[in-house]
Amino acid sequence: MIPRTPTKKIYVGNVAIGGDAPISVQSMTYSRTADVAATVEQINRLHFAGCDIVRVAVPDEEDAHALKAIKEQISLPLVADIHFNYKLALIAAEVVDCIRFNPGNIGEKSRIREIVKACSERHIPIRIGVNAGSLEKEFEQRYGQSAQGMVASAEYNIKFLEDLGFTDIKVSLKASDVQRTVEAYRMLRPKNNYPFHLGVTEAGTIFHATIKSAIGLGTLLLEGIGDTMRVSITGELEEEIKVGRAILKDSGVAKEGVNIISCPTCGRIEADLVTAVAVIEERTKHIKKPLDLSVMGCVVNAIGEAKHADVAIAYGKGSGLVMVKGEVVARLSEDALVDRFVEEVEKMAAVED
Ligand code: SF4
Repeated sequence: MIPRTPTKKIYVGNVAIGGDAPISVQSMTYSRTADVAATVEQINRLHFAGCDIVRVAVPDEEDAHALKAIKEQISLPLVADIHFNYKLALIAAEVVDCIRFNPGNIGEKSRIREIVKACSERHIPIRIGVNAGSLEKEFEQRYGQSAQGMVASAEYNIKFLEDLGFTDIKVSLKASDVQRTVEAYRMLRPKNNYPFHLGVTEAGTIFHATIKSAIGLGTLLLEGIGDTMRVSITGELEEEIKVGRAILKDSGVAKEGVNIISCPTCGRIEADLVTAVAVIEERTKHIKKPLDLSVMGCVVNAIGEAKHADVAIAYGKGSGLVMVKGEVVARLSEDALVDRFVEEVEKMAAVED
């Protein structure tokens, strides 16, 4: 396992962030927050998809006052996202589990002082959410929308909160491109031990957001940086969770669910591997236990991969082998292989470690 940079542990509701806590996956709803029924419905969808913490936008008072009713109907920790109007943070702080504010657009420091006071009274954390596109004027004038500017803003606001005696902090430094995002988190990491919320913001459609987030968040996670994350996608809610969980799993940072090792196919292929792998992925997606599953299109690499896999298929001409922990457990015709394979996976998933 990659060693994580030690960070302070904080709590957003009942979810720990930082320290030895698992890296959590967050998302946001897109309904009008004041539409309580629609927002609760979206939060429940995110919960079902595997989201750990949900954030809602609070652009006006009607939204802020809706938070109480939303909170009563959900079990995920709730974060209020505040821009411009600090008074909304004061209303939200009475019910939510965390306040995220953007220091670049909250204005006078006296307003931040009031947010800190409200959060202190309820013992809830604050995310200092720095965005490259909306830095405070003084930092943008000095550094432009650069990683240096983001880090300067974060450091200034961390110090401001610390001087008020408030240290229940997490920090994000988001830019819409991978390089600035990675650079900013790398620069700030040695300077404090607050947990980091990772994200490449405004990352685009599923295809590009997946690639940008996998590169950006993956790079940081492999350097031991990051305690919670959001994948930002212009798309459906569930996609953010699916991609976030996949980044954690495929980077090797988290051990959860099945890891499918399948060959890219070539002229030696002996079966319809594309369909077989799609069926296996669908039929094993509910499994939480970490299992390595190998599905190979011919014997060239199948036996070698099967040695390291929990369950494996090696296709031959019209038939193939099912192997468990490198041992052949069945030799079957091609059309029976996937069913038997999934049966063995289910059996192994049911065994308590
Ligand atoms: S396992 Fe066989 S079919 Fe798949 S890529 Fe390798 S040689 Fe080709």
